Amino acid sequence: IREEYIRRNPRSAELYPRFTELFPSGGAGHDGYVASPFPITIARGQGPRKWDVDGNEYIDYGLGSASLLLGHAHPEVVEALTQAAPVGSHFGAPVESMLEWGERVCNLIPCADKVRFVASGAESTMLAMRIARAYTGKEKIIRWESHYHGWHDYAMPGNLPPFDAPASIGIPQGAVDSVIVLPVDLNVLEETLANNNDIAGVITEGSGASYGTVPRQEGFVEGVRELTRKYGVVMILDEVITGFRWSPGGLQEWLGIEPDLCTLAKILTGGLPGGAVAGRDEVMQVMVQTGDRQHDRYERVLHGGTFNANPYCAATGNAALRIAATGEMQAQADRMAERLRVGLRRIMDHHEIAATVYGESSTFHLYFGGRSIDGLDANTLKNASPDVQTAFRQALQVRGVDLMSRTSGVLSGVHTEADIDTSLEAFDGAIKAMIDE
Ligand code: PMP
Repeated sequence: IREEYIRRNPRSAELYPRFTELFPSGGAGHDGYVASPFPITIARGQGPRKWDVDGNEYIDYGLGSASLLLGHAHPEVVEALTQAAPVGSHFGAPVESMLEWGERVCNLIPCADKVRFVASGAESTMLAMRIARAYTGKEKIIRWESHYHGWHDYAMPGNLPPFDAPASIGIPQGAVDSVIVLPVDLNVLEETLANNNDIAGVITEGSGASYGTVPRQEGFVEGVRELTRKYGVVMILDEVITGFRWSPGGLQEWLGIEPDLCTLAKILTGGLPGGAVAGRDEVMQVMVQTGDRQHDRYERVLHGGTFNANPYCAATGNAALRIAATGEMQAQADRMAERLRVGLRRIMDHHEIAATVYGESSTFHLYFGGRSIDGLDANTLKNASPDVQTAFRQALQVRGVDLMSRTSGVLSGVHTEADIDTSLEAFDGAIKAMIDE
């Protein structure tokens, strides 16, 4: 598999030393899964496909880290950007397109009375935590083991096993101390909320950890809603992945619940940088200055950012949300994901591989450690035989299919049945190659 990978990608191989020379760890942070002996460098994308610098074509299940519900370079998104481009890239001042963008968010997302645009998903969770702290006057944020909320200081503790240390060095102890990492268990949450009076809020990924790699337990998010309400702390639903994907109104519409705050990014901007915090008016009001400015009493959440609600992002965001609002893209993506999951199960059965295929909405996940994932923890699900997982992704890449991580992917509303069936042949070939090796 590895030899075939090297043979097919001479240009990527040639470029890689220049990447490692310039960039610590060889890239910009989204290339960690298959860097051995080098990652594939991508040249362009169109619809459900992308091409690398060696001209190899892939049916893509990575889709810009799940930001491209409409596929690569959707004509209406490209048109919106093309129209916006000559008008000017940024003014540091309100633009009208931001109004339409904000109205679309508030119309689609159930909890959104008010919305604040930021420049990335990580910024959205960072701001949401600050708003929760400001609103309650309390300091601590509860989060779940293994859920992902971006790379900032308050999102690192509990991100990856072992959960008693942050997933990165360079995190100040103050930040670590302000975050309580809990195992995914509503009883533990209730006990913690009952025994501590310094909790500002609870943040939870909507899908379960890492877009459902560790699936959400039935009733879990609803339980978080009940308990946060009971104990008067802010519920932050991280919808960076699920927003506009699980349904036009995200996971909250899908489940019929309303968090106090939610975080959005990815599909929100139609594939350009951006994010948002949206939420209940009363909570979002902490961003409004109410204190006595003259005496420097800043009784509001300060938030800035040069590129917040950037006009190009507002233009592509409006185009993407206009299409996402109908629900057709999500329905097609869900149907194709189901077709893929069913086909994958058939392949695993045919080759008598002890694997589990799972996932909801427009995602799919593979676990190569047994026929069930019941009761398995995040460490087992995410890190089961990393070498096998890496070989699997490479075996797929050489057959013209790419994933989002080593064993998971997402779909768009422009993947067709023919794309799925072609992909299933690649999956079948990859499994055979793995068996042969
Ligand atoms: N929250 C979740 C649930 C995510 O999946 C991600 C990114 N994958 C983030 C937050 C961070 O978003 P960004 O990468 O745009 O900073």
